[in-house]
Amino acid sequence: MRRGLYIGRFQPYHLGHEAVLQKIADEVDEIVVGLGSAQASHTLENPFTAGERISMIWPSLRGLDVTCYVIPLWDIARNAVWVSHVRAMTPNFEVVYSNNPLVVQLFAEAGVEVMRPPLYRREVYSGTAIRRMILSGDEAWMRLVPFSVLSVIEEIGGIERLKNVSRSDDS
Ligand code: NAD
Repeated sequence: MRRGLYIGRFQPYHLGHEAVLQKIADEVDEIVVGLGSAQASHTLENPFTAGERISMIWPSLRGLDVTCYVIPLWDIARNAVWVSHVRAMTPNFEVVYSNNPLVVQLFAEAGVEVMRPPLYRREVYSGTAIRRMILSGDEAWMRLVPFSVLSVIEEIGGIERLKNVSRSDDS
């Protein structure tokens, strides 16, 4: 049994993340999705709550051929002990999948095998780019995410939320 950990904030989950998950599903028996910055929401960088992000990802995970867990992970103020924090919150895993330099560094220092999946059209499939498009009213972002993400964003008034949290009190 080989279990892989895929860490991300998924703000929002997009088709680049999905391409990586599909590849991971070919390589391991079970996938643990570590939902990072679970405490964060209602900001420009992190507009969606952990629960909303789970609702966005869940339908894609159900379509995979492997067992998946989604574990919300709070950030902690000490990077040096973050890997222990992650281990305490998740089922055992043998390999971590990430391209985030800090995540790669911390797991490598802890002696965990780290795989860096190829980036899938990063210039287009990027949470930052999608949040920018939503804010500017460019509807092209809707083609960059699975349908479940669109429907959660619509259900929670996510476009309005992102616009509101980007405003200052005199704007
Ligand atoms: P993210 O959602 O931005 O990205 C998730 C993963 O998907 C990354 O590996 C990224 O490289 C990859 N990805 C993005 N676009 C892609 C594309 N087009 N094709 C293929 N792959 C793509 O999440 P993130 O910021 O990397 O998440 C890391 C989490 O770990 C954060 O929540 C961070 O706060 C947390 N963290 C916390 C601590 C701490 O609490 N001390 C320390 C380190 C990391």
